[in-house]
Amino acid sequence: MKLLIANWKMNKNFDDGLKVIKTIRKKIKNNSNKKYIILPPLQSTLHIKNNLIKNDVIFGSQDCSQFKNGAYTGDISAQMIKKIGCKYILIGHSERRTIFNETDEVLKRKIKRALEQKLKVIFCVGESLTQYKQGNSIKFIIKQLTKVLDNNINFKQIILAYEPIWAIGTNVTPRMEEIDYIHLKIKETMKKKYNILKIPVLYGGSVKAVNSSDIFSLKNVDGGLIGGASLIASEFCKIYDTL
Ligand code: PEP
Repeated sequence: MKLLIANWKMNKNFDDGLKVIKTIRKKIKNNSNKKYIILPPLQSTLHIKNNLIKNDVIFGSQDCSQFKNGAYTGDISAQMIKKIGCKYILIGHSERRTIFNETDEVLKRKIKRALEQKLKVIFCVGESLTQYKQGNSIKFIIKQLTKVLDNNINFKQIILAYEPIWAIGTNVTPRMEEIDYIHLKIKETMKKKYNILKIPVLYGGSVKAVNSSDIFSLKNVDGGLIGGASLIASEFCKIYDTL
């Protein structure tokens, strides 16, 4: 199963979002080989869901609280996210790690909250430009994985996304062989550390219709996490066609 995830970040009001999803829905369909999942800003999701003729679009959230419920102003719990019909939660995006200072401990708790609600987790890892230049990408990524994931996790609920920070929103990507190699190393780590033989690993970072078929044809890449290009329905559909 190949996956394409649209991370809209803090873009699009509920009315714009609905328009984009209506266009996407007309052009592309999920099937048993591939599916797309949309992560709108959460306040739009219910509106969009309620205004679609058919309930056939899969939604997820870009984040969830590390807490179950209570006095946590501004936070939204995994249970609330589940209640509005989301099936997925993105955890550990580099923007959450760097701008909101989310630590490994926080991410661990967020994953726990999401799994308690039987939501699937898309867990992001990826190195900075400095780490890449120093040849430390793999070492750093393995640390990100092993600091957060433990053997008690139900790995059937986990999807991994490799997103080099320096490729996000920059129009640059690693070379194709580098992308494939890192995905392979991530899979090998999952096997060695957790005895997980099969886990989807998606690539994210400046994926567009012009480079998506090269990226998706790589042996170890199981799909994509798309930021900027997922805001334009036609572009997102073209990317989906190459999956
Ligand atoms: C992202 O932020 O997850 C992302 C992949 O962004 P972009 O596609 O814009 O590089």
